[in-house]
Amino acid sequence: MNSNITIALSKGRILDDTLPLLAAAGIVPEEDLRKSRKLIFGTNRDNVKLVVLRATDVPTYVQHGVADLGVAGKDVLMEHGSEGLYEPLDLRIATCRLMTAAIKGVEPKSGRIKVATKFVNIAKRYYASRGIQADIIKLYGGMELAPLMGLADEIVDIVDTGNTLKANGLEARDLICHISSRLIANSASMKMKHTMIQPIVDLIAKAVD
Ligand code: AMP
Repeated sequence: MNSNITIALSKGRILDDTLPLLAAAGIVPEEDLRKSRKLIFGTNRDNVKLVVLRATDVPTYVQHGVADLGVAGKDVLMEHGSEGLYEPLDLRIATCRLMTAAIKGVEPKSGRIKVATKFVNIAKRYYASRGIQADIIKLYGGMELAPLMGLADEIVDIVDTGNTLKANGLEARDLICHISSRLIANSASMKMKHTMIQPIVDLIAKAVD
Protein backbone atom coordinates (compact mmCIF):
# COMPACT_ATOMS: atom_id res chain seq x y z
CA MET A 1 0.00 0.00 0.00
CA ASN A 2 1.58 3.29 -1.09
CA SER A 3 1.38 6.54 0.83
CA ASN A 4 -0.34 8.52 -1.92
CA ILE A 5 -3.99 9.51 -1.94
CA THR A 6 -5.98 9.68 -5.18
CA ILE A 7 -9.35 11.42 -5.14
CA ALA A 8 -11.84 10.79 -7.99
CA LEU A 9 -14.08 13.77 -8.75
CA SER A 10 -17.26 13.89 -10.84
CA LYS A 11 -16.99 16.42 -13.63
CA GLY A 12 -19.79 18.86 -14.41
CA ARG A 13 -22.00 20.63 -11.92
CA ILE A 14 -20.79 18.61 -8.90
CA LEU A 15 -17.18 19.68 -9.52
CA ASP A 16 -17.82 23.39 -8.91
CA ASP A 17 -19.26 22.67 -5.47
CA THR A 18 -16.59 20.10 -4.61
CA LEU A 19 -13.53 22.33 -5.04
CA PRO A 20 -14.30 24.69 -2.10
CA LEU A 21 -14.72 21.64 0.19
CA LEU A 22 -11.36 20.25 -0.93
CA ALA A 23 -9.78 23.67 -0.39
CA ALA A 24 -11.14 23.65 3.16
CA ALA A 25 -9.32 20.34 3.64
CA GLY A 26 -6.11 22.02 2.40
CA ILE A 27 -6.18 20.39 -1.04
CA VAL A 28 -5.84 22.80 -3.97
CA PRO A 29 -5.29 21.63 -7.58
CA GLU A 30 -2.16 22.87 -9.36
CA GLU A 31 -4.26 24.23 -12.22
CA ASP A 32 -7.89 25.09 -12.95
CA LEU A 33 -9.62 21.72 -13.47
CA ARG A 34 -12.50 23.29 -15.37
CA LYS A 35 -10.28 24.95 -17.96
CA SER A 36 -8.03 21.98 -18.66
CA ARG A 37 -8.58 18.95 -20.88
CA LYS A 38 -6.34 16.89 -18.62
CA LEU A 39 -7.93 14.16 -16.51
CA ILE A 40 -5.27 13.82 -13.82
CA PHE A 41 -3.98 16.70 -11.69
CA GLY A 42 -1.35 17.30 -9.06
CA THR A 43 -2.20 19.38 -6.00
CA ASN A 44 -0.37 21.60 -3.51
CA ARG A 45 0.18 18.39 -1.52
CA ASP A 46 2.86 16.11 -2.97
CA ASN A 47 1.05 12.92 -2.00
CA VAL A 48 -2.47 13.91 -3.15
CA LYS A 49 -3.66 13.77 -6.74
CA LEU A 50 -7.06 14.31 -8.34
CA VAL A 51 -8.69 12.54 -11.28
CA VAL A 52 -11.72 14.05 -13.00
CA LEU A 53 -14.16 11.46 -14.33
CA ARG A 54 -17.63 11.00 -15.71
CA ALA A 55 -19.87 10.89 -12.63
CA THR A 56 -20.98 7.31 -13.33
CA ASP A 57 -17.35 6.09 -13.41
CA VAL A 58 -16.38 7.47 -9.97
CA PRO A 59 -17.72 4.52 -7.89
CA THR A 60 -15.93 2.06 -10.21
CA TYR A 61 -12.51 3.72 -9.69
CA VAL A 62 -13.01 3.87 -5.91
CA GLN A 63 -14.37 0.32 -5.68
CA HIS A 64 -11.31 -1.04 -7.47
CA GLY A 65 -9.05 0.93 -5.13
CA VAL A 66 -7.27 2.88 -7.88
CA ALA A 67 -8.82 5.95 -6.26
CA ASP A 68 -8.94 6.05 -2.45
CA LEU A 69 -11.65 8.68 -2.15
CA GLY A 70 -14.35 9.95 -4.50
CA VAL A 71 -17.21 12.38 -4.81
CA ALA A 72 -20.40 11.09 -6.44
CA GLY A 73 -24.12 11.80 -6.46
CA LYS A 74 -26.34 9.52 -4.37
CA ASP A 75 -28.24 8.75 -7.60
CA VAL A 76 -25.07 7.34 -9.16
CA LEU A 77 -24.22 5.39 -5.98
CA MET A 78 -27.71 3.89 -5.68
CA GLU A 79 -27.63 2.86 -9.31
CA HIS A 80 -24.08 1.45 -9.11
CA GLY A 81 -24.37 -0.40 -5.78
CA SER A 82 -22.12 0.12 -2.77
CA GLU A 83 -20.04 -3.06 -2.55
CA GLY A 84 -16.50 -2.26 -1.38
CA LEU A 85 -17.39 1.38 -0.69
CA TYR A 86 -17.76 3.41 2.46
CA GLU A 87 -19.84 6.57 2.42
CA PRO A 88 -18.35 8.63 5.28
CA LEU A 89 -19.95 11.99 4.44
CA ASP A 90 -23.03 13.61 2.97
CA LEU A 91 -21.49 16.69 1.31
CA ARG A 92 -24.92 18.34 0.93
CA ILE A 93 -24.00 19.70 -2.51
CA ALA A 94 -25.69 19.25 -5.91
CA THR A 95 -28.99 18.56 -4.19
CA CYS A 96 -31.92 17.49 -6.35
CA ARG A 97 -34.73 14.92 -6.40
CA LEU A 98 -35.12 11.64 -8.21
CA MET A 99 -38.69 11.54 -9.47
CA THR A 100 -41.09 9.87 -11.82
CA ALA A 101 -42.57 12.14 -14.49
CA ALA A 102 -45.14 11.87 -17.25
CA ILE A 103 -46.94 14.00 -19.83
CA LYS A 104 -48.80 16.82 -18.07
CA GLY A 105 -52.43 16.05 -17.39
CA VAL A 106 -52.32 12.45 -18.67
CA GLU A 107 -53.89 10.00 -16.21
CA PRO A 108 -51.52 7.31 -14.89
CA LYS A 109 -52.05 4.05 -16.82
CA SER A 110 -53.32 1.08 -14.87
CA GLY A 111 -51.62 -2.27 -15.39
CA ARG A 112 -48.22 -2.77 -16.97
CA ILE A 113 -46.35 0.44 -17.83
CA LYS A 114 -43.24 1.35 -19.81
CA VAL A 115 -40.62 3.47 -18.06
CA ALA A 116 -37.62 5.12 -19.74
CA THR A 117 -34.61 6.01 -17.59
CA LYS A 118 -30.86 5.86 -17.21
CA PHE A 119 -31.42 4.65 -13.62
CA VAL A 120 -32.46 1.11 -14.53
CA ASN A 121 -31.65 -0.53 -11.19
CA ILE A 122 -33.25 2.21 -9.09
CA ALA A 123 -36.38 2.16 -11.28
CA LYS A 124 -36.69 -1.64 -11.09
CA ARG A 125 -36.48 -1.55 -7.30
CA TYR A 126 -38.85 1.41 -7.00
CA TYR A 127 -41.68 0.01 -9.16
CA ALA A 128 -41.28 -3.48 -7.64
CA SER A 129 -41.58 -1.98 -4.14
CA ARG A 130 -44.85 -0.34 -5.17
CA GLY A 131 -46.21 -3.49 -6.78
CA ILE A 132 -46.30 -1.86 -10.22
CA GLN A 133 -45.33 -3.98 -13.22
CA ALA A 134 -42.92 -1.87 -15.23
CA ASP A 135 -40.90 -2.60 -18.35
CA ILE A 136 -37.76 -0.52 -17.93
CA ILE A 137 -36.19 0.94 -21.07
CA LYS A 138 -32.57 2.08 -20.72
CA LEU A 139 -31.72 5.48 -22.21
CA TYR A 140 -28.50 7.48 -21.92
CA GLY A 141 -29.94 11.00 -22.05
CA GLY A 142 -32.85 13.18 -23.11
CA MET A 143 -35.34 11.06 -21.14
CA GLU A 144 -38.02 13.75 -21.57
CA LEU A 145 -38.40 12.79 -25.22
CA ALA A 146 -39.50 9.21 -24.45
CA PRO A 147 -43.11 9.91 -23.35
CA LEU A 148 -43.54 12.51 -26.12
CA MET A 149 -42.51 9.96 -28.75
CA GLY A 150 -44.60 7.17 -27.25
CA LEU A 151 -41.57 5.14 -26.21
CA ALA A 152 -42.61 5.18 -22.54
CA ASP A 153 -45.52 6.09 -20.26
CA GLU A 154 -43.26 7.51 -17.57
CA ILE A 155 -39.66 8.45 -16.99
CA VAL A 156 -37.47 8.30 -13.90
CA ASP A 157 -35.13 11.28 -13.87
CA ILE A 158 -33.42 13.93 -11.80
CA VAL A 159 -35.42 17.07 -11.11
CA ASP A 160 -33.90 20.27 -9.78
CA THR A 161 -35.96 23.36 -10.73
CA GLY A 162 -38.41 21.33 -12.84
CA ASN A 163 -37.74 23.60 -15.84
CA THR A 164 -36.56 20.77 -18.11
CA LEU A 165 -39.77 18.79 -17.52
CA LYS A 166 -41.91 21.90 -17.98
CA ALA A 167 -40.17 22.90 -21.23
CA ASN A 168 -41.12 19.49 -22.64
CA GLY A 169 -44.74 19.41 -21.49
CA LEU A 170 -44.07 16.91 -18.69
CA GLU A 171 -44.81 17.07 -14.97
CA ALA A 172 -43.18 15.48 -11.95
CA ARG A 173 -45.30 12.78 -10.31
CA ASP A 174 -43.80 10.78 -7.43
CA LEU A 175 -40.70 11.47 -5.36
CA ILE A 176 -38.37 8.46 -5.28
CA CYS A 177 -35.76 10.09 -3.04
CA HIS A 178 -33.78 13.23 -2.28
CA ILE A 179 -30.27 13.29 -3.75
CA SER A 180 -27.01 14.97 -2.74
CA SER A 181 -23.36 14.24 -3.43
CA ARG A 182 -21.42 12.00 -1.07
CA LEU A 183 -17.80 11.47 -0.18
CA ILE A 184 -17.00 7.81 -0.76
CA ALA A 185 -13.94 5.81 0.22
CA ASN A 186 -12.47 2.49 -0.82
CA SER A 187 -13.01 0.15 2.16
CA ALA A 188 -9.43 -1.18 2.13
CA SER A 189 -7.92 2.34 1.80
CA MET A 190 -10.09 3.53 4.68
CA LYS A 191 -8.40 0.93 6.91
CA MET A 192 -4.85 0.89 5.50
CA LYS A 193 -4.48 4.65 4.92
CA HIS A 194 -6.59 5.71 7.88
CA THR A 195 -4.07 8.19 9.26
CA MET A 196 -3.97 10.02 5.91
CA ILE A 197 -7.64 9.78 4.99
CA GLN A 198 -9.35 10.53 8.32
CA PRO A 199 -7.93 14.09 8.67
CA ILE A 200 -9.16 14.88 5.14
CA VAL A 201 -12.63 13.50 5.98
CA ASP A 202 -12.70 15.50 9.25
CA LEU A 203 -11.75 18.78 7.57
CA ILE A 204 -14.31 18.30 4.79
CA ALA A 205 -16.96 17.45 7.41
CA LYS A 206 -16.17 20.69 9.23
CA ALA A 207 -16.47 22.66 5.97
CA VAL A 208 -19.84 21.02 5.21
CA ASP A 209 -21.16 22.13 8.61
P1 AMP B 1 -34.05 21.13 -13.87
O1 AMP B 1 -34.49 21.56 -15.24
O2 AMP B 1 -33.49 22.25 -13.04
O3 AMP B 1 -35.15 20.36 -13.14
O4 AMP B 1 -32.81 20.14 -14.06
C1 AMP B 1 -33.04 18.86 -14.55
C2 AMP B 1 -31.86 18.30 -15.33
O5 AMP B 1 -30.61 18.80 -14.89
C3 AMP B 1 -31.87 16.80 -15.13
O6 AMP B 1 -32.34 16.18 -16.31
C4 AMP B 1 -30.46 16.44 -14.85
O7 AMP B 1 -29.86 15.89 -15.99
C5 AMP B 1 -29.76 17.73 -14.51
N1 AMP B 1 -29.46 17.90 -13.06
C6 AMP B 1 -29.94 18.85 -12.23
N2 AMP B 1 -29.42 18.75 -11.00
C7 AMP B 1 -28.59 17.71 -11.03
C8 AMP B 1 -27.73 17.10 -10.06
N3 AMP B 1 -27.64 17.54 -8.80
N4 AMP B 1 -27.01 16.02 -10.43
C9 AMP B 1 -27.09 15.56 -11.70
N5 AMP B 1 -27.86 16.09 -12.66
C10 AMP B 1 -28.60 17.15 -12.34
